[in-house]
Amino acid sequence: MILELHDIHVYYGESYVLQGISLRVAKGELVCLLGRNGAGKTTTMRAIMGYASPKAGSIKFMGEEIAGSPVFEVVRKGIGYVPEDRRIFSTLTVEENLEVAFRPKKNGETLWTPEKVFDVFSLLKPLRNKKGGKLSGGEQQLLAIARALVSNPGLILLDEPCEGLAPVIVEFLGEIIKELKKDMTILLAEQNACFALNLADRGYIIEKGRICYEGSRDELIANEEVQCRYLAV
Ligand code: ATP
Repeated sequence: MILELHDIHVYYGESYVLQGISLRVAKGELVCLLGRNGAGKTTTMRAIMGYASPKAGSIKFMGEEIAGSPVFEVVRKGIGYVPEDRRIFSTLTVEENLEVAFRPKKNGETLWTPEKVFDVFSLLKPLRNKKGGKLSGGEQQLLAIARALVSNPGLILLDEPCEGLAPVIVEFLGEIIKELKKDMTILLAEQNACFALNLADRGYIIEKGRICYEGSRDELIANEEVQCRYLAV
């Protein structure tokens, strides 16, 4: 198992946000975490990355406990994060955004370099000297994903990558994620069930800080009650 969350509890002050989240992602899987606005998807991602410290529970990455570890350590261990708000460096160019994030794997391997990004993400190539702040929302999203890739992680967390993007860009993003899926392990948080279930092998549904359903892609697609109750499709 690459990632294993067991009974994670997170509070924001008095507010009890994650009420015992357990989930697992195996090597090579694309697992989605589906849920409505405010269900706790982002908080789950933040807990894994070390931005939100769990009061109880365990988070194991490649068998090693990381719950409560600082963000830089989690990144160094090999988790790449693409946050909902993208956090592109707006005063750096596209190329510089990639250069600052570029790191070989712990074993020295480099599957992804900035040059490979420009080959695979052809839309970014002509933008390499453009400042991050001047990119469109879709371009920023691509750059945020590319930036996570050049850190050569063992796992990527994608938080609502389609949010705020035009349908044509969402479709393009889906194609890119399908490509990445071939040699990357991904945990994808999404409200857009159609988008996520088109890509995922398995999924979990989160509601009010608890996992209320888990199943394979086909089970999730076939379960109309789950679709109507928890997902606005
Ligand atoms: P969204 O799609 O809106 O990002 P989400 O499923 O990712 O939804 P979270 O952002 O994890 O949900 O939020 C879960 C709950 O925690 C919500 O009720 C939200 O209002 C609350 N919350 C989130 N961030 C904070 C914070 N910094 N302080 C207090 N409460 C917060």
